[in-house]
Amino acid sequence: MSTPEGGRVFLVGAGPGDPGLLTARALELIARADTILYDRLIPAEALEGARAGAELLFVGKEGGGASVPQAQTEALMVERAQAGKLVVRLKGGDPFVFGRGGEEALALRAAGIPFAVVPGVTAGVAAPAYAGIPVTHRGIAGAVALITGRTRAACTAESEVDGDGSGTAVLGSDDDEATAIDWRALAAFPGTLVFYMGVRQLPEIAASLIDAGRPPSEPVAIVERGTLPNQRTVSGTLATIAERARAERVRPPSITVVGAVAELAEQLAWRAPAPLSGRTVAVTRARAQASGLARRLRELGAEVVQAPAIRIRPLSDSMPRRLGKPEADWWGSEKQVSPSPPARFDLIPYDLICLTSPNGVACLFERLAASNPLADARALAGARVAAIGPGTARALAEWGIAADVVPERFVAEGLVEALAELPVRHALVARAREARDVLPDALRARGAEVDVLELYETVAEPLPAETLAAARAADYITFTSSSTVRFFFEAAGGGAELAPTTRIVSIGPVTSATLREHGRAPHLEAERHDIDGLVAAVLADASSRYA
Ligand code: SAH
Repeated sequence: MSTPEGGRVFLVGAGPGDPGLLTARALELIARADTILYDRLIPAEALEGARAGAELLFVGKEGGGASVPQAQTEALMVERAQAGKLVVRLKGGDPFVFGRGGEEALALRAAGIPFAVVPGVTAGVAAPAYAGIPVTHRGIAGAVALITGRTRAACTAESEVDGDGSGTAVLGSDDDEATAIDWRALAAFPGTLVFYMGVRQLPEIAASLIDAGRPPSEPVAIVERGTLPNQRTVSGTLATIAERARAERVRPPSITVVGAVAELAEQLAWRAPAPLSGRTVAVTRARAQASGLARRLRELGAEVVQAPAIRIRPLSDSMPRRLGKPEADWWGSEKQVSPSPPARFDLIPYDLICLTSPNGVACLFERLAASNPLADARALAGARVAAIGPGTARALAEWGIAADVVPERFVAEGLVEALAELPVRHALVARAREARDVLPDALRARGAEVDVLELYETVAEPLPAETLAAARAADYITFTSSSTVRFFFEAAGGGAELAPTTRIVSIGPVTSATLREHGRAPHLEAERHDIDGLVAAVLADASSRYA
């Protein structure tokens, strides 16, 4: 274990993208790290195992934007390690294969910082493997060369964004991966050629290899986003591959395999294409809530456009409000004339507590903690707890509370039905400010006293024009609540023209009604009114339309 003086750095490979290809050692170090410096091409799930208090620093290159200069990354590692931290430098694939890991190790050695290297599964072997291409094969290829496709000429002309992002913009002499390639030597190489990077240089690579003597008919396969759910293989020959890649719009990150082994993919491809591969799906729910849905869609191969039209704003001062009896305060004491509630807030008076969203659960526990730092799940011990659906029930389960009631239909009306048999004296409905009164009204109609606690409100999140445009052009646009509908179409100035091919997906009847009010009848409505149901609806539609 690290002592206060025991700072050190682990140069860790995170594999090519499939989180299952992170090594056991990588996972262990990610869980222990004080500081993690990571690049763009690491699996999205890799950081999930980091400690809650760990410092996570992105040092890669985002899109076409500026990157953190290599020297700065190295200085950061040195500085944190000197402060006694356990630093994980997380890199895509293997840290010593085109990852500038060697340079970083040299910088650490120069600064006298102890370091260790944790190899990773490199993309040049893994992406072909996931496409059914063994990079060596007895009788076909007895050697394999790993080559950077960034040629010096091309790099001085323009910067390419498909590197591991660990370095500077690729500009001339600053980029040491940009080597002048000896095409004759490469063409003569007796085995498979695996090119990293270099999607843009593909025409030059193919032409140079042919000029230097490699047969134009030699098989080539490009594996794009290898090991990820939306992996794709584009095949051809040295003569045709540049045109095929252009026509198929191949993008980084991609690996190009040149050699007879590329043809084995025809027999050995083993991965079923992901069901939503090639489809774009827009997600309009609040960013904080979108990640589960976005990840599910990505795992199914979709490209996700995050267009959060709303944001959740906690109402930290709100107090329970008795419905229909404005003269009574929230304790229910009719004698007390002042409607102002006591500052302290607890759940003792209630025999039923209804939660109508995962946000509500999070906000309720924040409120409890704010009023009493020692409060925990026992604050709800005296009441039955009802959740509107499984997502809310899961959020409760994270607090150790098993919901007593979860309806079969995940709308307020469903909850009313599910509560029909339950004797209720005094209920608390904890919910969004803008929620409908269906549930409180129904409980009151049964003679219960009902307090409503408005825990948060939904506010508009401004969307950049490009995001809106991408969302409007998506194959599917998903709406998970009435507020996402209202704010999305308002964000677009009332005139959000969706592309004629865009299919509108609604989570349930209430959201669908709001869509119709906005003149946009949904094409699909989830049968189960939750995220699983929504994803199932998209899947079923995609498999029938695009099969
Ligand atoms: N250290 C990394 C390589 C970094 S260079 C490794 O060992 O894999 C970045 C290049 O790696 C990309 O331009 C692309 O050519 C390749 N690459 C990384 N991840 C990839 C993936 N999932 N699919 C295809 N190629 C990938």
